[in-house]
Amino acid sequence: MTLLARPQPLTAATPVQDRFGRVKRKLRVSLTDRCNFRCPYCMPEAPEFMERADRLTRLELQRVLRLFVSELGVTRLRLTGGEPLLRRDLEAVIEECGELRALGLERISLTTNAALLARRADAIKRAGLDDLNISLDALTPATFAKLSGGRGVQPVLAGIRAARDAGLSLKLNTVVIRGMNEDEILPLTRWAMREQVSLRFIEFMPLDGRGEWSRERVVTQAEILAQLQAEFAVEALPRGNDPAAYYRIGSDAEIGVIATVSNPFCASCDRLRITADGSLYPCLFSQRGTSLRELMRSGADDAALAASIRNTVWHKDAGYVAHPGYVERPIAMNSLGG
Ligand code: SAM
Ligand code: SF4
Repeated sequence: MTLLARPQPLTAATPVQDRFGRVKRKLRVSLTDRCNFRCPYCMPEAPEFMERADRLTRLELQRVLRLFVSELGVTRLRLTGGEPLLRRDLEAVIEECGELRALGLERISLTTNAALLARRADAIKRAGLDDLNISLDALTPATFAKLSGGRGVQPVLAGIRAARDAGLSLKLNTVVIRGMNEDEILPLTRWAMREQVSLRFIEFMPLDGRGEWSRERVVTQAEILAQLQAEFAVEALPRGNDPAAYYRIGSDAEIGVIATVSNPFCASCDRLRITADGSLYPCLFSQRGTSLRELMRSGADDAALAASIRNTVWHKDAGYVAHPGYVERPIAMNSLGG
C-alpha cells in the first residue's frame, strides 16, 4: 500500500478514499443490532441492544445514503444487521434505496440468516433488491442449532428456496470453526453443487462478541481446500475484486473462500460500514466510529456531514494486516453487520 502525501480535494463527486489510496465503493448498512439468532461467533452472551430512539430514523438513513451515493461515490449498498428481516419496514427501506439508482447506485444487496425469508422473498424482490447473501453454517440440525443458539435449519432452507423461486440471485456463506462445523464442509459443498447455488466458506474472525476466538479455532483457507481436494478436482480461478478467492470444483461448480485471517485482503478493501445508530466505521477492526446521527441531530448541513465522512475514511487504518490477532473492541459483530 502507498501512503498518499496529500488528502484528496473535497469536491463533490470525488470518490471517498483513505490515506492508503483505497477508494470506497461499497457501504454496509446495519438496520438493527437485534437478531432472532444467537450465533456464538457473533453475538455477546448478554447483548445490550440499542434503544429505538437511538436508531437512525428512515429520513436520517436516506439522507446519509443519498450523500454516500451522490457526493462520495458509493455504488453498492448492502443491508445487514443484526437480522435485517426483523425490520418490518425492510421493503420500504429497499424501495427508498432504489431511488438512489438515478444518482449512481448500481446494486442493493441484503445479508440475512433467512429464517424469516420465506414469507417475504417475493416482496423484497418486488421492492427492488438485486441479490442476497444467506448465512448457512451447517445442514445437520444439531450442529446448526449449536451455531445459531438453538434454531432449526428447515426455515432457513425454506428461505433459500423461496428466494430462488422469487428470482433473487443468492450466495451462501458458512463460517467455519474448528470443533464445531469443519465436518460440514463436504456435505455443504455437495449440497450446494446439487442445488446449483454459490457457496463461500469464511474463516472465523477475531470479532466474536464472547471473546472466545483463538487462532487454533480458525479453519484456514488451506485446510478448507485440503478437505475439498480429498474429494474433488479443485482449480484456482483468477482473483477478482471480491474478498473471496474462487475455485472450480469438479466440472462446473464454484466455491469461494474468504480468508480474512490467513490471507487478509485489506490492501484492496473498498468497504465502509454504518451501524443502525448511524456510526461510521471505516473498518471491521476500527476501535471507534464517527456518529453521523449526532452530527445530523446537531444541525450539520450536507457539506459538513460529507467533510466528516471524508475525514473519518481518510484516517482508516491499514486493517487486520497491521494488528493480526484478537481485537478488543467496544462493538460486537451484530452491531457492525459483518
Ligand atoms: N444476521 C445476518 C446474517 O447472519 O447473515 C446478517 C448479519 S451477520 C453479522 C453478517 C455476517 O457476519 C454473517 O455471514 C456471519 O456469519 C458473519 N460473522 C459474524 N461474526 C463472525 C465472525 N466472528 N467471523 C466470521 N464471520 C462472522
Ligand atoms: Fe444474528 Fe447474523 Fe450474528 Fe448470527 S451472525 S447472531 S444471525 S447477526
